[in-house]
Amino acid sequence: MHGQEIDIQYLAGVGPKRARLFRSELGVESASDLLRYYPFRYVDRSSVTPIASIVPDVAYVQFRGRVMRRQLWSADKGEVVQKEGQAVKYNVVKRMTVLVTDGTGEMELVFFKGIKWAYEKLRPGEDFLFFGKPQVFNGKLNMVHPEMDPLGTNNFEGLGSLTGIYSSTEKLKNAGVTDKVMRKIMQAALNETLPSVEETLPEYVLREKGLCNLRFALYNIHFPKDAASLEKARYRLKFEELFLLQLSLLKAKFIRSRADNGIPMPKVEVAFNQCYENIPFELTGGQKRVIKEIREDMRSGKQMNRLLQGDVGSGKTMVAVLSALIAAGNGYQSCIMAPTEVLAQQHFRNIQKYLAPTGLKSALLTGTSKTAERREIHAGLEDGSLTLIVGTHALLEDNVVFKNLGLAIIDEQHRFGVDQRSKLWRKTSDGRPPHVLVMTATPIPRTLAMTFYGDLDTSVINEMPPGRKPVVTMTAGEGKRYAMYNFIRDQIALGRQAFIVYPLIFESEKMDYKNLELGYEEVIRQFPFPPYKTAIVHGKQTAEEKNFNMAAFVEGRANILVATSVIEVGVDVPNASVMVIESSERFGLSQLHQLRGRVGRGSEKSYCILMTGNKLSKEGRHRIKLMCSTEDGFVLAEEDLKMRGPGDMEGTQQSGLPIELSIASLAKDGQILSDARRYASVILDKDPGLDAPENQRLKIELSKSKYQKKDYSKIS
Ligand code: ADP
Ligand code: MG
Repeated sequence: MHGQEIDIQYLAGVGPKRARLFRSELGVESASDLLRYYPFRYVDRSSVTPIASIVPDVAYVQFRGRVMRRQLWSADKGEVVQKEGQAVKYNVVKRMTVLVTDGTGEMELVFFKGIKWAYEKLRPGEDFLFFGKPQVFNGKLNMVHPEMDPLGTNNFEGLGSLTGIYSSTEKLKNAGVTDKVMRKIMQAALNETLPSVEETLPEYVLREKGLCNLRFALYNIHFPKDAASLEKARYRLKFEELFLLQLSLLKAKFIRSRADNGIPMPKVEVAFNQCYENIPFELTGGQKRVIKEIREDMRSGKQMNRLLQGDVGSGKTMVAVLSALIAAGNGYQSCIMAPTEVLAQQHFRNIQKYLAPTGLKSALLTGTSKTAERREIHAGLEDGSLTLIVGTHALLEDNVVFKNLGLAIIDEQHRFGVDQRSKLWRKTSDGRPPHVLVMTATPIPRTLAMTFYGDLDTSVINEMPPGRKPVVTMTAGEGKRYAMYNFIRDQIALGRQAFIVYPLIFESEKMDYKNLELGYEEVIRQFPFPPYKTAIVHGKQTAEEKNFNMAAFVEGRANILVATSVIEVGVDVPNASVMVIESSERFGLSQLHQLRGRVGRGSEKSYCILMTGNKLSKEGRHRIKLMCSTEDGFVLAEEDLKMRGPGDMEGTQQSGLPIELSIASLAKDGQILSDARRYASVILDKDPGLDAPENQRLKIELSKSKYQKKDYSKIS
């Protein structure tokens, strides 16, 4: 929006004091900012509810009422300090109650502020239209600070039937910015600014997408003429928001993919085929498709930036190895970086197996690698005799230098920060960035992936290797605790192992550790040594303690692993057949799904037991029910998104949204988002720099600061 920016303080009804609050509380500085401050809901003010049928705690209602009685109270003693007909001493009045009736029932109105004004307005015997949020106080229906309009004149103050409600703050309300005042200020902002508001989208976009123009949208989002106009306005603003965001993300991607700065890897050499032919199983369709996508990327001469999503156990390691072998076949080294030592070791063991037929050399480098070993590895990486290195953060250290790193694979990417990752690609000698493959087992709902990783290519392995048995999921309340212990005993007698996981949502929470400790003691009592052995892993242990305990379980020396939810993502213990999750209602769906994925990795039937407290919220119950009904990580992730919103989703906390959305919702507007993204890519395909005259508006929009923040997901 151009034209002249009007400082919010100069709008009628604002002034310097309120302007300061608009700035600090809402981030609104100018009249045009204010126009982009949309109502969060609308109420239908064309309907009038009889008082008798008003129920408490519904959203807003509107009703008629005749003033019966006004009472003024002093707060200290709660005494009525004023009777009708006496002069009022407002300085001692702390509260006013007004009883009104519409013949069907009575409602008490309560005022703590603006009492003088309201007292003088609400004269007994007169009729008003009231509007506000009803509640019950001391068993009686009341309403605090309702809006009111005298009814005699049928004066609705030009309110349309749909009235916007703005989210506000305590401070703004205290400064007198009520819903009604907010609407007045908004009206002033529209009057002052709307005529000079400039369209942000090109004419052809409006036409092709059937969108209303920006002025219509901004007017009707605040003061809808009717439901249809509101819908048009809302659609237009959502589309605009998602479209511009996608345009900015895709533009970065287009620029990168046209840059031609990737390392071309055209050959598929013997190593790849040797390995491929020796895989002891048939690759799934998903694995084959993804490998093909990766091969095409690496061959293209453009740098690959690919996110590979595949549920736990979907076989991502194989994909990683084959990708590394493509690089090897073209004379380049690869690295695979895992977030923890345990995971790196596990990767290394598997990868060595797959690499054996090729005769290529690989090594493991972690924080605990011995100095001599380290030295040898460093040398091997520098002279190129090592083809593949698997490791942890230790790979990022400055003294790790590659002869020619061609592919960087990062497992469980959300544990790595952007800065850490970017260190990797500065390790190549010829200045060309390596291809990058990021693998995650956290299923990310499509809308989130398109936004958080909007400038990456994504691949999904959407099927599991054949023969995996479903995990039987059950819930158990406290009453079944002993049955649960007996069940574990039976499984141990069959030679299996069990996880018992405690929630540790915030690592610092003392309470959670208390629960964990008590739980551990209880488990030891139930499963005494000998014959049982129980290991424990949590975030307060040293790396050594953690490794020691983890290894005891992985190697089968411990029957039970008591752990917090920080338990390593991706740890593979095929012999573990039971996953008990304590206080499971406290976990999000994605997290529950991740934990459940720890079992069911071997040939035995596996079980996930969700322990629940006595008082389950409706949402908690819904989550537990979903867990019992599906094992599809994407379905669960979509539900999680709907229930908790994007901010709380696993894998998104660290990245944050590329820009803050003000009207569109990633949980609800998936359709508009996909459409906007597709359309954005059509436009960029024709005009990647947005240089065409008809795209100037878009270029101007994207040059605004909110699109200039750093790209969160961009990998190189
Ligand atoms: P994740 O995607 O969780 O990293 P892994 O790569 O660790 O999964 O694979 C899980 C297990 O499935 C491994 O034991 C692996 O050998 C096996 N596996 C992978 N692909 C297949 C396949 N196509 N058929 C059968 N088993 C497979
Ligand atoms: Mg894995």
